[in-house]
Amino acid sequence: MRSLAPLIAFAFVACANPDAPPPVAAGTMPPPTTAPTTPATPPVPTVPGASIDRSLMDTSVKPGDDFFMHANGAWYAKAEIAADRPVAGVGLQVTQEIEQRNKDLLEAAALAKAAAGSATQKVGDAYATFLDEAAIEAKGVAPLAKELARIAAIADKHALATYLGGSLRADVDPLNNTAMHTDRILGLWVEQDLNDSTRYAAYLMQGGLGMPDKRYYLDDAAPMAAMRAKYVQHLTAMLRLAKIDKADAKAARTMALEAKIAGVHVSRLDSEDVGKANNPWAQADFATKAPGMDWKAFFAAAKLDKQPGFIVWQPAATTGIAALIASEPLAAWKDYLTARAIDRASFYLPKAFVDERFSFYGTALMGMPSPPPRWRRALDVTNDQLGEAVGQLYVAKYFPPESKAAVQAIVTNLVAAYARRIDALTWMAPATKAQAKEKLSTLLVGIGYPDTFRDYSALSIVRGDALGNAERAEQFEYARNLAKLGKPVDRGEWCMVPQIVNAVNMPVRNALNFPAGILVPPFFDPHATAAANYGSIGAVIGHEISHSFDNEGAKFDAHGRLANWWTPDDLAHFQASGAALAAQFSAYKPFPDLAVNGEQTLSENIADLAGLAAAYDAWQASLGGAPAPMQDGFTGDQQFFLSFAQGWREKLRDEVLRTALTVDGHAPPRYRTLTVRNLDAWYPAFGVQQGDALFLAPAARVRVW
Ligand SMILES: [Zn+2]
Repeated sequence: MRSLAPLIAFAFVACANPDAPPPVAAGTMPPPTTAPTTPATPPVPTVPGASIDRSLMDTSVKPGDDFFMHANGAWYAKAEIAADRPVAGVGLQVTQEIEQRNKDLLEAAALAKAAAGSATQKVGDAYATFLDEAAIEAKGVAPLAKELARIAAIADKHALATYLGGSLRADVDPLNNTAMHTDRILGLWVEQDLNDSTRYAAYLMQGGLGMPDKRYYLDDAAPMAAMRAKYVQHLTAMLRLAKIDKADAKAARTMALEAKIAGVHVSRLDSEDVGKANNPWAQADFATKAPGMDWKAFFAAAKLDKQPGFIVWQPAATTGIAALIASEPLAAWKDYLTARAIDRASFYLPKAFVDERFSFYGTALMGMPSPPPRWRRALDVTNDQLGEAVGQLYVAKYFPPESKAAVQAIVTNLVAAYARRIDALTWMAPATKAQAKEKLSTLLVGIGYPDTFRDYSALSIVRGDALGNAERAEQFEYARNLAKLGKPVDRGEWCMVPQIVNAVNMPVRNALNFPAGILVPPFFDPHATAAANYGSIGAVIGHEISHSFDNEGAKFDAHGRLANWWTPDDLAHFQASGAALAAQFSAYKPFPDLAVNGEQTLSENIADLAGLAAAYDAWQASLGGAPAPMQDGFTGDQQFFLSFAQGWREKLRDEVLRTALTVDGHAPPRYRTLTVRNLDAWYPAFGVQQGDALFLAPAARVRVW
């Protein structure tokens, strides 16, 4: 919920956002190794030097009837989604440019014959290894053998718990990257303690599903039922490819067990509520609170036996999963683990596995007819395994100090505008305002890249061992996270790689990351007008700042503790505004059977609204009293709002849209564009009147901050 872009568009399925390992989009990305690094889907394009691109617009659509189509309709009518992409639009346009840059860097590294153990050797070898399909083909299923043998050797429920504990990975991140999905039975997240800002906590989240969310298993709607049938076919095909006997029966049993796991899962909506997630359990509590699992064996195998306590994100699911460990036959668990292990590894196996994986995760779930070219997947794999090493190469070549300074100036103006908006709130008590402003003053903003890059010296990357590299990278990431436990919190650690088109707010650390990948035209264009830049990157920056004050972020104080700093009256007013915004978004219905979920997307929608309002104020202040220059016939206000709307120029496949509506914390881009309805300045800028479809009477416009 904290990042800018939807998770699924590019992602992985693993850590938020835009895509990390296994979550949703597994077709395009490698399975998640690290927790967060999600990809995203951001906004807008343009000719460098221009501000607003008139050729994208459909001026036959009244701005007051459909502002998205007014700003983007000519483009939308013609845009085609490439067969190997889930979306078309500005985020993809920028992503493609960044991909090309990274490809150049990695190809050079692969040829560099760099010293063994150096960062260049590792990124070059990771990239080259995944590209070497002939070597992967020659090995066949041999790289899987060890894992399958370990599963086959599980002789009792004690050994099952040991196996599951040994499979735990740091592959979730519910607050920074909204990575809530892991296909492993549980997921670990190590982050600042919700209750004590001086230390890290070990968080445990529900997992175990191969499809993105419990609703895929339980929802009666026809498209979901069809997806279940396709999933069973997919599992069957995977088992056959791996030469597992009785594939049909084992796939069916796997599906049946996953459906039971889904049955005890907590909903996506409840999982987003940090108030329901703050459940400290001592290690000794697990045996009584979640009987059925041999937790002692689990934690020992996970190397967490010395960890005194955990924060259990979804206690009901943890209890339910442990009960299933006891109640379901060992043979069913072993079939399930076999299927999941093959499915997870398939990305790194011969072409038949890769194609089968894509047919489900890419085509069925995401609607993509064709897989991305191998080099792009190699790029994803390398970014997943060695993200900051690649990032270090990227920023050295592509992110000049002047860009960092220019963006810093916009950030400073945005923070100042935000403070003025807090001062001007008529409904908020002085005590609450003081707390809000303290929180604003302690915000840590990272621009472009982290001050200290990650040290990968403990990670061994071996040319020719694609699956082994992926597994070692996961283990490296897991060990790196375990090592944080007991140490002081590092607020400067980044949760996104620099070479990504996205941005993120980390509520527990009260910190923001704006990766170098999004600080490029058209989001940030040194040649564009201030109005256009504030409408685009300004709104992005405002969005991330606002996450500190959205319905979830507002639960954290200036130190990142989960603490109520609100007076009861102020909180009631704030919640009423949120409810009004949720109702506004829930009225948008992309499909007859599926509306935008205003609750599920509330924090993002608040961030969009507050961020756009603050960006508008910051832009006005930046003019210093001078009139805004016209550009290409557009007034300053028109440039600001059109730049914002063109920044959400995205077209999604229906399947992607359906998945997003189900699991994503972000509303679809065309509805995010309609945030403008709540800003008074938008009405006179475009002559929007009562009777227009998007018109809201002044009292009905939602003002949160
Ligand atoms: Zn966000």
